Amino acid sequence: MGLLGFLFLVLSFSSEAKVVMAIHGGTGVPKKELSADMEKQYRSELEAAIRAGYARLKKSGGLDAVEIAIRYMEDSPIFNAGKGAVFTWDGRNELDASIMEGKTKKAGAVGAVTVIKNPISAARAVMEKSEHVFLVGRGAEVFATQVGLEVVDPSYFWTERRWKAIQERWAKAAKENKVRGTVGAVVLDSEGNLFAGTSTGGMTGKKFGRLGDSPVIGAGTYADNDGVAVSGTGWGEFFIRFNAAASINALVKYKGMSVTDATTQVILKQIPAAGGDGGAIVLDKKGNFAGLYHDDGLYRAWVTDDGKVEVALY
Ligand code: ASP
Repeated sequence: MGLLGFLFLVLSFSSEAKVVMAIHGGTGVPKKELSADMEKQYRSELEAAIRAGYARLKKSGGLDAVEIAIRYMEDSPIFNAGKGAVFTWDGRNELDASIMEGKTKKAGAVGAVTVIKNPISAARAVMEKSEHVFLVGRGAEVFATQVGLEVVDPSYFWTERRWKAIQERWAKAAKENKVRGTVGAVVLDSEGNLFAGTSTGGMTGKKFGRLGDSPVIGAGTYADNDGVAVSGTGWGEFFIRFNAAASINALVKYKGMSVTDATTQVILKQIPAAGGDGGAIVLDKKGNFAGLYHDDGLYRAWVTDDGKVEVALY
C-alpha cells in the first residue's frame, strides 16, 4: 500500500462519525427489574422512533425530525408521554411538551393538557402559529383544536401499567414515585442548525396542576446554534431549579466546555448534590453527543451521519 493509501486508512479509522440525531425515552427502572421482554420492546421502539425521525431529517429538516420521533414515542404505550402517560394524584393524565429551534431561539410549549393526542405537535403549533411561547390547560386545548390538531377523549391515555402505578402510589402514599419515561429528541441538520423537543406525562401522582421541567424552555428543553440542543428527563423540580438545559448550554457556549463535561457538571454533579436525579441527551453543532444520567438508566438511541443507529438503555 502506498503512503496515500495508508494515510487514507488512518484518517478513515480515526475520524469519528458525527451524531446528527439522538432521542431518549426517559430514565428507567433498575436493570434487574427490567424483564427481557420489556427490554426488547424499549430497544425496538427506540430504534423505530429514531429511524422515523432520521428519514424525515434527510428529507425535510430538523424540526420535522424532532416532531416525528417524539410523535412516534407519544403513540407508543411504553413511554411516559402521549398514550403511555402516567396518572396524576386524582387519576387523570395531564401532558406537557416543548420544542425549540436553535437558530432563531423560537420555542413553543404546552402544559397540563388532557385531550391533545400529540402534545409535541401542539408545542410546535404554539411556536409557529401563535404569538406566544407557552399555553396551558383548557386554553392550549382550544388553540390546538382551532389549528386542527387531533383531540381525543381523555380515556385514550388510560393504560393498565400506569393505572397500576398510581394505585400503588395511592396505597403507599410515598413521597416520590420513580415511574418515569419522558421522551425527547435533539437534532443537528446539514446546515449546522440544532433543534430540541421533549414530551411527558410528568411524574406519577403529581398534584394541584403541577408542571415539571419538560415544557419549560431552559429547564427540560433548550436549543442554541452557538451552544447545544438538550432534552432532559428526571425529577423535574430539580431541572427547573437548576435551569438544567440552559445551564448545560451556557457551560458549552460561554465556558467552552465539551458536551460531556457540561452535562457531567449539571446532571451528574449539581442536581444529585441537591438530592435530585435524572438524565439528558445533549448534541452540539459538530455532532458531539452526550447521553448521561444519574438514575436507573437512560433509554436512548442516536444516529450518525453515516446512518448507523445505536441503542442503549444503561
Ligand atoms: N421530567 C419529567 C417531569 O418532572 C418527568 C420525567 O422526565 O420522567 O415532569
